[in-house]
Amino acid sequence: MKKIFIGVAIGAAVLIAGVMIGTSPSEKEVAPSISQETRQESAPAANKTQAKPQSQTQTQLPARVFAADDFSNVAPSSPSVPVYDKCTLSERRAAGLTTTLPDIAPYRAGKTVYLTFDDGPDDKNTPAVLDILKDAGVHATFYVTGAQAEAHPDVLRRIYDEGHAIGNHSYDHRYEKLYPDVSGFLAEMERTDEVIHSIIGVRPLIIRAPGGVVGNFTDAYESAIRANGYVEHDWNVSSADAAPNHPVAQDFIDNISYGTDQEAALRTAIILMHSSEGHEETVKALPKIIEILKDKGYAFGVVTPMTPQPW
Ligand SMILES: [Zn+2]
Repeated sequence: MKKIFIGVAIGAAVLIAGVMIGTSPSEKEVAPSISQETRQESAPAANKTQAKPQSQTQTQLPARVFAADDFSNVAPSSPSVPVYDKCTLSERRAAGLTTTLPDIAPYRAGKTVYLTFDDGPDDKNTPAVLDILKDAGVHATFYVTGAQAEAHPDVLRRIYDEGHAIGNHSYDHRYEKLYPDVSGFLAEMERTDEVIHSIIGVRPLIIRAPGGVVGNFTDAYESAIRANGYVEHDWNVSSADAAPNHPVAQDFIDNISYGTDQEAALRTAIILMHSSEGHEETVKALPKIIEILKDKGYAFGVVTPMTPQPW
């Protein structure tokens, strides 16, 4: 019963959103059948010249959820379905829509790993990571900066089109703009939302604070991001691929293998890696990392508002 209701709500939301934002670049296509239980909207990657029958698009295109006006649908039944909002915060404010998410039960139904790649996209390592993920048949989460997205919009589009999740990682990662006060932090986040939205027609609800929240966030940050509908996730397993002592691929493999054996990550492992310039060793390590995680029995999720906090 609940699933049927959710399906209807999402279907209705998509229709409403479609009406509201008629010029959205990627959503002309197929409205999901509200009778389908796994009804997250299918948004096409490339071939959108002709609408195809629902049965074909369902199997070919990545599933995604687009937030309803009231955010009632942002906790999909699957942990591998990205969630986006077609409205920017300023559009929500202008339309009188809520900017605050409802209470969301964290996803704990299965042993799940979330691969996360920060600081991209670049035009070398991020595409290489995408190739590896495609070969392995898994999805991941890319916390991008606005500046990098502006520099490499095609790579951002590719992340989106291939069904991964995109998160907001500030405009240009400068602590002096982010951490003196919360208004600076929010301004950087909103600026990045606008950049991402201008490229792919949607914005993320998920964010990652550069450097993580520890030592950076105060209570004022926590309440402000909640009021603006953002959900922040740090990590509980670090590859340490940004350590200053120039670690190499085998170090990341060892770190992740060890980290995912620890109690805190046995059920939900959120793994920190980087796909930006200079992270060739991360690319080198990734196939083995995925193999190890599969052997340990993890399913691969993408970060959404319902992803449990890592600690
Ligand atoms: Zn970062």
